[in-house]
This record gives sequence, C-alpha cells and structure tokens, in this order.
Amino acid sequence: MSPQNLPERIATVRERVARAAAGAGRSAQSVTLLAVGKAQPLELLIAAAGCGLQHFGESYLQEALAKIAALRDLELTWHFVGRVQANKTRPIAEAFAWVHALDRLRIAERLAAQRPFHAPPLNVCLQVNLADERAKGGVPPAELPALAAAVASLPRLSLRGLMCIPPEESEPARQRAWFARLRELLERLNAAGTRLDTLSMGMSGDFEAAIAEGATIVRLGTALFGPRPVQ
Ligand SMILES: *Cc1c(COP(=O)(O)O)cnc(C)c1O
Repeated sequence: MSPQNLPERIATVRERVARAAAGAGRSAQSVTLLAVGKAQPLELLIAAAGCGLQHFGESYLQEALAKIAALRDLELTWHFVGRVQANKTRPIAEAFAWVHALDRLRIAERLAAQRPFHAPPLNVCLQVNLADERAKGGVPPAELPALAAAVASLPRLSLRGLMCIPPEESEPARQRAWFARLRELLERLNAAGTRLDTLSMGMSGDFEAAIAEGATIVRLGTALFGPRPVQ
C-alpha cells in the first residue's frame, strides 16, 4: 500500500477502537494503539507518525534499530514485541521503551543489568502461553506468579502487565474467551499485591474482542498498513 491511503485506514481503525471501547463502557483513550511496522518501509512509518501515532512496535531487531535511528527526531515510543534472544538483550535494553514478550527470568535479569542508568526503567510485559502452544513463546499460566514476583523485584525494569498471542479464532465469543483468561490472570496477580496496569492483547484479526475484555494496548500491523511485503 502507499502512504496516501494511510490517513483513512488509521481513521477507520481509530473508529473501530472507539466503538469497541464504548461498547465496553470504556473511553477510547484507555486503549493505546501500537502500530506494528515490522517488514514495512520507513516511509509508511513516517506517514503514520504524521497522522499522530506515537507508539511503534517491531519484532526484528536489526530492522528495528535502523528505523529507530532514522526516526530519532520524531521522538516516538518504541516497543519490542518479538521474542527476546539472550544474545540480543543489550541493544533492546538500550533502544526500546517497552518489551512485550518477556517469558524467562534469565532474559529479564540481562535486560535489568543492561538498561542504561540514564534511561527511565524499561517497561515490560510477561507473555503468557494460554493454550500451551509449542510454537509460541510465553510462560505457562501455572508458572506466572513466580515469574511475576521475580521480575517485579528487579531494578531498572518496570513490570507493567501481561501479553498474549492466543490461537486464531474466527468467532468473537471464542476470541473473547482467551482474552478473558489473560485479564483474569492479571486480576489474580493484582489481588495478590502486584500492581499491573497493562493488558497487551489484540491484533488486527481480534482487537475488538480484546478491547471488550480490557486490552489497554492493541498491537496492530495489517489493519493499519495492509499486508506485510514478502521479505
Ligand atoms: C506482527 C505482530 C503483530 C501485528 O499483527 P497483525 O495481525 O498484522 O496486526 C502484533 N503482535 C505481535 C507480537 C506481532 O509479531
């Protein structure tokens, strides 16, 4: 797609977010639109920033670092949404404001040790593997409380909430059931004294269901930018 169509696409997505939020008795501002620009060209990201989008997500580190450097003057907020490999923690700790898919204490410890002291704490979400899917990352729900407690105690990190990539479902009711599980896990942690304010859930195919269940960040790629170019 070309940047010319982007304002209309963004407006349409914003309307859908607002409608889903209103349907859940929530304000549209309670949902942050995270534009996932992985595999998309720089010009599209620049156009999206020109339309007022502030939060950008990437999952391929080399590509992300090049974009962050090129767009430094726009003062965007960068989120790493991909899996974090142990040998790549330093550039992630240095260049991003958020990490969404944390699922191992060892990785969290490296990010904490490598977060620069002049930077604010790195915001992190724990990815939960709700359906026990082998191909996907995420901590099993049973191990979540221990991981959350350990990560919350680390310096230089701010544990903000939970993230999931549930199985693809076409029916909204089934989509909602997965997101409800993540919300319940967050509520249980908060009832036990953790203070989490973020549910990073919902992608282009299911973000309205996620908002109905309390998503505070929806991660949208194709809904905003169209299909990703084949790399
Ligand atoms: C690619 C990606 C997205 C965006 O996916 P779309 O279906 O294009 O909206 C969201 N979250 C993560 C973790 C991704 O890797």
